[in-house]
Parts: sequence; structure tokens; C-alpha cells
Amino acid sequence: MNKFVANIFVACFVFTLSQAHQQKHICAHEIMNEQLDQEIVDFIVYENDRNLQSTDPRNLKITYDMAYFSNLSNNLEIQTFRSYCEKSIIIASNFFSNLITIVPKPAGSMKWDSKSDTCGKATVPSVDKATDKDSDLHLYITFSDNPQETYLAYAGWCRSLISRGPTHGHINFNFGLLKSFNFTDSLQFQSLIQTVTHEIIHILGFSRSLITQWVDSNKNPHINSTVQLTVRGILTTFLKTPNVLEFAKMYYGCDTIPGMPLENLGGSSSHWETTVIQDELMNAAQASTIHIFTGFTAALLRDTGFYASVNSNMEEKSFYGKDAGCSFVTGSCDGNKREFCHVGSQEKNCDYYYQGFGQCKSSIFLDENCQIYDSFSYPQCFDDSNNFQIDPTFKNALGVSFGPSSKCFNSSLIKSTNRSIQKQGICYNYICTDAYQVIVDVGGTKVTCSNNGEQLQVVGYSGILTCPEKLDQFCSFNKLCPNNCNSNGFCNNGTCICMNGFKGTACDQAA
Ligand SMILES: [Zn+2]
Repeated sequence: MNKFVANIFVACFVFTLSQAHQQKHICAHEIMNEQLDQEIVDFIVYENDRNLQSTDPRNLKITYDMAYFSNLSNNLEIQTFRSYCEKSIIIASNFFSNLITIVPKPAGSMKWDSKSDTCGKATVPSVDKATDKDSDLHLYITFSDNPQETYLAYAGWCRSLISRGPTHGHINFNFGLLKSFNFTDSLQFQSLIQTVTHEIIHILGFSRSLITQWVDSNKNPHINSTVQLTVRGILTTFLKTPNVLEFAKMYYGCDTIPGMPLENLGGSSSHWETTVIQDELMNAAQASTIHIFTGFTAALLRDTGFYASVNSNMEEKSFYGKDAGCSFVTGSCDGNKREFCHVGSQEKNCDYYYQGFGQCKSSIFLDENCQIYDSFSYPQCFDDSNNFQIDPTFKNALGVSFGPSSKCFNSSLIKSTNRSIQKQGICYNYICTDAYQVIVDVGGTKVTCSNNGEQLQVVGYSGILTCPEKLDQFCSFNKLCPNNCNSNGFCNNGTCICMNGFKGTACDQAA
């Protein structure tokens, strides 16, 4: 059952502003990975009912073993890489400790008794076969050095207890690709944390090979947890366990929804279907901008039946396809909706969450005739390093600004009376008022969006600024955290949750 498909684009794009008689370069590396996961089915341990104890739930405790790194290499570059991997695991484990409570598994059940001596690429040490662990999930961390391969990481569960869930799993990092990342940059380190979080959710339950092990509140297997239907010409599996089904009905505003579709392309079915939910943490492709931990994934973790509780306060807001009705989920893609774009369009507009801009294009995970504005190929508004990469003359002519308080607006504004540019996504600083007005700062000149989709002129500029389609959603969606929690915590709902040893709104003080 080894399977992973991935793809990577590292490219330098030329940003052309031909109608302004200027040619400027914005060169950036954009990395896209699509992760599929190794799913190892070993054997299932049948729990002896006599061992069942009633115990109070506790915060999920994840332990890990990185001996593979030490055993294999004293190479300094790999040991530095190891320290970033370890820190990302510690921060991600803290995320799950805040998110999930679990009734500890019976005494002795964390002892490795599998017939296999390996979990992923790791050899299980003999001590793990001899002794129990004070842990709810034990992870073996390994790496490979495959620059020619196209995945950043993959993960799988190795051992699971009937009705209690996984006990051991593995995560493998692809050093060959990840070594090109600059993890001293808090934004890039944050994407490593998101990758690790994604992988651990597979191990905790979002895995096609584990769905059959999920149990209901009475610890009985779910009946008919999935249904298959052909949508947009593709046979698609819909997950219809109770919490996921209920959330999908509410989210899309569709009482007859068959369930929540799983990815139907690329052999990547342990993920949500990209066509109906963008930027979800559990989509098959890494989000162009920032991942969202939505109620869909929280509902899925509840439906595993393995956990005592999943903290609903940590679910993050998502608007893609919200209240869009049944046809959005099972019908053809409508290029008139802002979720999609018109196939073949040459415009370079803002992505759905206004974090960046890009061309209207497809991906291997979007169903046929469904294209979106993908900001991969262009700089993202929230990344302030773009302020130094962009040519100052060009920046000044457009009034552009990058950084955490910048978002994308579709605009044809240019500082001149006799020049014009086509409408495109441009990053400007902005603030939201309490009344959901958006004050946009175009090169120091402020204009106010008071109505949805309003079109504004700006003194000293030719062209038009188009206000966000839904100002309340625009202002409600702020996934970014102060300075990306300084690489010392994870960002949830715009708030940093710091790892042990750090405190402060940006995790920048010693605790
Ligand atoms: Zn995945």
C-alpha cells in the first residue's frame, strides 16, 4: 500500500507590466507539494476486554524517537535539519495536546508487540518491545535524501488497537527537498509545522486504511461510513460519518449532501476534495498561502471514536464554498463564483482569501473544468520580504505594500494620469474597522471600502480599486499570527500558542 504522489515547482517568474512600459522582476521560489501517505497495515491488536479501565481523559500525549538521525549521520547539515524537524514535532504535538483529549489506553498497550520490527523506515528498538510507554501516540521520525522525488514528508500508522486507535506511527521527511528551505525564516518554519501537523492527522485517523477501524460512540464500527458517487465525471468517495455529514450539511447549506467528498484525483484519497474546499490543512496539496484547520477535520477526528474530545474552539473559520448549496458540491464548477475562475481567463486576480494573486489555472487535484486563481506563482501579500525584492520604482508606481497587514485587492490603479494597467491582484496595506469597513492604503493615500464589491477611484492614480466581495468575511479572516510566533509556537485562529519555555503574544519571551 505504499503510495505517494507529489509534485514540485520551483520557478522564477517574470512579472511584466507591459502597458506601463515597465518590466520588473519579482523572483521568488514557490514550492508546492502534494503529499500522499504511506499507509502500513500491520496487524490489529485485539484488546482484552478485561483490561478495560475507566480512566479520566487527559490531553493527548505524543512521544517521538529520532534515533534514526543519529544512527545514520554525523553530517552537520543533517543534524541542523534534525533540530528543525524536532522543534516542529514538539510544536505540532503541543497543538494536538491542546486539541484532543483521550482516555489513556490500558496498561501495557503501548508496548510494541507487532510481528514486524520496523515502523516506516525505522527499526523499532528492543526497549520498545520490552516496556510500556506513558504516551498516547509514539512516533518514529526518519528522513530520506531524495531531491529527485517530489514529496516533502509522508507518514503512516503502524499499529492500532481495536476501538482505541493508533499507538505507533512514523513520519519521514525528505531532506533532499527540505534542505532548500530557509527555516531561520519564521514563515518557512511555520510551513514545516503545518506539514508535520498534516502528517500527524493522517496517523491519528485521516487515513483510508484506518476509516474501517473508526468506531461510533458505543465503540461499534460505523455502518456505511462512505458512499461512492460520480460527480463532475469522476467517481468520488463521500465520507458520511455523523459529525462530518452534519458539518458538511451546515457548511454548504445542503440538507441532502451525501457526505464530504474525499480527493478523487492523484490517488490521494486520504484528503478532502480540493475542488470543494481550498486551503484546508488536510487537502492533498499544500495550500498556496496558509492552511486552515476547519471544522471538517475536527469533525473527522471526532468520528474516529478514538478520542474523548476535540476542542471546537480551535476550529478555524473558512469561507470557501460556504452556504453555496448542493450544486457547489456535486454540480459543475461555476466560473462566475469567486471560488473559481473562467477557464482560459488571462487575468491575474487575487486568490479566494486575498492573500496573494495568480493566474487562473488547474491543478492535478481540481476536477475537470474547475480552475482557480492560484497565488503560487506570485508573491504573497503577507510576506514582507517581498518589500525588498520588488523594484522601488515599480512599488511606488502601484502603491504596493507587503507584510502581515497587507492583502490582495483586484485593482488597475497606477500613479499617473496618462498610463493604464489591466486589472490584476495588487497587495496593499489595509485595516478593518469594527463596522467591517476596509481602509485601504494605496501608497500612503487612504480610501475606504464601505460596501461589498464597491469600485473606488484614488486621487493621483488612474484606474479603479475593486473592494472585497464580502467585507465581513474579508475582515473575519485573519489567519496570521504576530511574527509567525517567532518559530516558538503554532498559530491558531490568529493567536500564538507557545511551546514550553516561551510566552507572549508572539512567543518571543522566555517563560
Ligand atoms: Zn496528506
